Amino acid sequence: MVPSEKQRAQMLDGRPIAEAIKKEVAAEVGQLRQQHGVVPRLAAVLVGEDAASAVYVRNKVRACGEVGIDSEQIDLPATASSDELLTVVRRLNADDNIDGILVQLPLPKQIVDSVIIEAIDPSKDVDAFHPTNVGHLAMGRPRFVPCTPAGIIELLDRNQIEIAGANACVVGRSQIVGRPVASLLLQRHATVTICHSKTRDLPSVTRQAEILIAAMGRPAFIRGNFIKAGATVIDVGVNHLTNPNDARQFFGAEADRRIEAIEERGYTLIGDVHPAEADLIAGRRTPVPGGVGLLTVAMLMRNTLQAAKWRRGL
Ligand code: NAP
Repeated sequence: MVPSEKQRAQMLDGRPIAEAIKKEVAAEVGQLRQQHGVVPRLAAVLVGEDAASAVYVRNKVRACGEVGIDSEQIDLPATASSDELLTVVRRLNADDNIDGILVQLPLPKQIVDSVIIEAIDPSKDVDAFHPTNVGHLAMGRPRFVPCTPAGIIELLDRNQIEIAGANACVVGRSQIVGRPVASLLLQRHATVTICHSKTRDLPSVTRQAEILIAAMGRPAFIRGNFIKAGATVIDVGVNHLTNPNDARQFFGAEADRRIEAIEERGYTLIGDVHPAEADLIAGRRTPVPGGVGLLTVAMLMRNTLQAAKWRRGL
């Protein structure tokens, strides 16, 4: 059914779900402390001064505080070498008080991401990017699951959106979103199509999807004609929009507020989905901001708790 102008796509708000997950984690962290005297501890490593990365790390450290997880932030200069970062990772691997290690990506160009990721102890790999954890997930018996894909599944489950049997389409095949979310959907018995920059006639493929996941990093790329009527659209993209005219075109009723944001701080955030067009055809849609991004941090808290338990055989 195509929603009428009045009956717009329902918003899938990430905030209450993220809060619920953090509450659950906080309760379990409390139990772990009471029953076993264990307080999970996360180490977050930030290399360089990228503003977005600094915000992400700050949000993660703040979330630790909210759920009772201990944390430490390790800052290295943008000029740090691969060896310097490896020394930090090895020290954290060897430190029995550290349960989770996250190295914020992207890293400066003199450092090869994969070398660092592969150096992290898989039992502390709360981002789940180590090949061991990627392999477990690909085999259908995940241990740690990458946070954004795990958050997407929570968002679908807690909104009672049926995954089993659904036609699901993932646009994007990155290691951190596209591939792992496709694996998780397959594990949950969806029929999964993965699209990428070489996919021919993308709209004709995405239009088959009852669950459409956009993880491309292309502002407002997924237009109304990419979407099946009534579909659930999960917008993973986080892009900066700086042009007020674009904001007017993309945001419909929300445009004035977004233009104000551009005037105040120079940008507003937009996903990979054209919000005004999607709202006229989708059944449900995640907003940007306020959707998937909030769940990513909540799932990191859950992974850190899991790491603390698994490392102690609990
Ligand atoms: P990425 O590594 O740059 O991958 C982008 C993917 O999109 C690639 O697989 C690429 O295809 C595909 N793609 C690009 N243009 C396309 C096109 N025109 N048609 C079809 N496919 C196209 O990006 P990522 O790290 O997965 O991130 C994607 C977006 O999600 C970004 O905006 C990022 O900021 C956001 N993100 C958000 C969160 C969150 O917590 N909310 C977390 C992670 C990422 P090829 O493989 O063929 O190049």
